[in-house]
Formats: sequence, C-alpha cells, structure tokens
Amino acid sequence: MHKVIIIGSGCAGLTAAIYTARADLHPIVLDGYEPGGQLALTTLVENFPGFVEGVMGPDLIENTRKQAQRFGAEFRSGAVTSVDLSRKPFRLTAGKDTYETETLIIAAGASARMLGLESERKLLGHGVSTCATCDGAFFRNRDIVVVGGGDTAMEDAMFLTKFAKRLTLLHRRNEFRASKIMLDRARANEKIVFKTPYVVEEVQSVEKSSVESVTVRNVQTNAIETIPTDGLFVAIGHDPNTKIFRGLIDMDADGYIRTHDGPKTNIPGVFAAGDAQDRHYRQAITAAGSGCMAAIEAERFLSAH
Ligand code: NAP
Repeated sequence: MHKVIIIGSGCAGLTAAIYTARADLHPIVLDGYEPGGQLALTTLVENFPGFVEGVMGPDLIENTRKQAQRFGAEFRSGAVTSVDLSRKPFRLTAGKDTYETETLIIAAGASARMLGLESERKLLGHGVSTCATCDGAFFRNRDIVVVGGGDTAMEDAMFLTKFAKRLTLLHRRNEFRASKIMLDRARANEKIVFKTPYVVEEVQSVEKSSVESVTVRNVQTNAIETIPTDGLFVAIGHDPNTKIFRGLIDMDADGYIRTHDGPKTNIPGVFAAGDAQDRHYRQAITAAGSGCMAAIEAERFLSAH
C-alpha cells in the first residue's frame, strides 16, 4: 500500500515526485511509455527559468529525476495497463505488477500527433518540432513549413512569422478545420503562403541531421515537389495519454482530464497535472507548476484523511 503513486515522468510527474518525496510520502513514479515526456524528445529549452544559456530537454529531465530520487522517490518502468478508481485504496496494474495507493497523481502528459514518417522522427529536435513556442526563436530569419489545418496550425504559423523569413502553411485539404477568425488572420498575414491540398512525403536530410527540405505531394494530382526549408513544425494536434481513465474520471470530449480548484479531479484523492489536463498552455514550466500543486493537494488530502 502506497501513499502516493504518480503516473508519468515528464515535468509534471517529476515535480510532483520531488514535492511528495520531500514530504516523506515515498512516492512511486510509474514511468509510462515515453519516460521523461515531451522534453525528453527535444533539444535546447530556452524558456525554462533559471538557465541563462538554456538547457537541453533530456538533461533537464535527467536532473529533475535525480533530484526526486535524492529525496527518496522510486521509479518503476512500464505503463499502467488498468486502473480501478471505484474504491479506496485505488488499484493500478502495470504489466505484471499491481499497486494499491491512497492518492494518485495523473501526470501522463499528452503526445503531439506526428505525421508518422521515419525521417520526421529522426529529425525531431533537429529542425522538426511540435512546439512553436519552444522552438520558434531558433528559426530567426529562416524558412519554415508548418503542417496542419486547425487552430493550432494557424496560431503556430502566426507566432512563427515573428521569426520566419518565409512561412509555408501546408494542409492536406482545401477546407480548414480552424475557426474562421484564426484562418482569416493567418490569411491576412503576408508572410504566410498557403499550400493545399498537400501532404508531406519525406523530410530531408537525415544524413546531415538537419532539415533542408520537405518533399510534398498534391493529394489531388499526385504531383511531387520539394520545398527548401530550415524547419518543419508539425501542428496537427495533441492526444492526452488518458485512454485508460476513460469512463472512470471526468474528462472532456478530447480526453483532457477536467480539474477544479487547481489539480483536483472529480474523484477525491485523485489529482491531475501537466498536459493530461491542460490543452491551453502545454509548457514545461506550467506542467512543473501543476505537478507541484498536485503534490501539495495530495499531501493535504492524506493529512485530512
Ligand atoms: P485539430 O482541430 O484536431 O486540427 C488538426 C489538424 O491537423 C486538422 O486540420 C487535420 O486535418 C490535420 N491533421 C491531423 N492529422 C493529420 C495528419 N496525419 N497529416 C496531416 N494533417 C493532419 O487540432 P488543433 O488545431 O490542435 O486544435 C485542437 C483544439 O484546440 C481545437 O478545438 C481548437 O479549436 C483548439 N485550439 C484553439 C486555439 C485558439 O482558439 N486560440 C488555439 C489552438 C487550439 P483535417 O482537417 O483534414 O482532419
């Protein structure tokens, strides 16, 4: 029987681990499918406070993990496969292991949707990005391609024109999912060139470990062309990693866990932090902040019960 189990080891989960470990709650952290979360997949992070020259995402994660371990947080690899929140203590299964816990912090994060190309995966953090706010400043006076047709793509494209010399917005249909107001704003932006209906077939160059161009295909004519670019921003949405909680906990239609009064969910003793409950900010620092809040609330819950 554990006092607190934290699902997820990204910024939110690790911060919750530091706080609960320092409160002597001996947290168990279940690593999940993507240990370290999205920061483990990036390169330089320049907007996390305290690092004048920036910090490499994987280093930030590794240090935060060691910091949590220093206070006694215990890490277990593997992802949660089933969960029972209907009675106390809560029960979790991760592979062959079963856990019982008095409180649960869900910090399972969200995964950026990817196009699914091998070259895209290999160049992630080397010119391919899923986070305009994080990486836009690396593309000052450069050419950028943004993929997507929703509000995120419009927002990212407009944000990125602050840096880009030229920006191509590539979408697979001629119609857009984005709201009219966002689309109109993007269309009015002189730096943005709309290119539809196109899909990305390949990103070059894996050999040089940097983005030099993208090969795109017109889905109506099948015509192929190559667009020279320094960066590819994939802005086709995110999926919160909350499938196993569907039907067990209050969440919105897209699977983001609903929280109130900070990190509280509709189940007393279950808290949510980071991108699993945040569709708006999605920043390392906001995830860390909400992990801290979840830890403090878990501690208060345990004292009160
Ligand atoms: P979204 O609305 O689901 O749009 C995703 C876009 O990516 C769609 O245009 C989709 O194309 C395209 N797409 C998906 N998979 C693809 C693939 N494999 N290859 C190529 N294109 C692909 O996601 P979102 O833009 O992240 O927005 C999510 C929610 O947040 C929405 O409710 C949105 O309104 C909201 N949001 C609001 C704001 C704001 O108001 N400021 C900003 C950001 C997000 P299809 O259209 O062809 O399916």
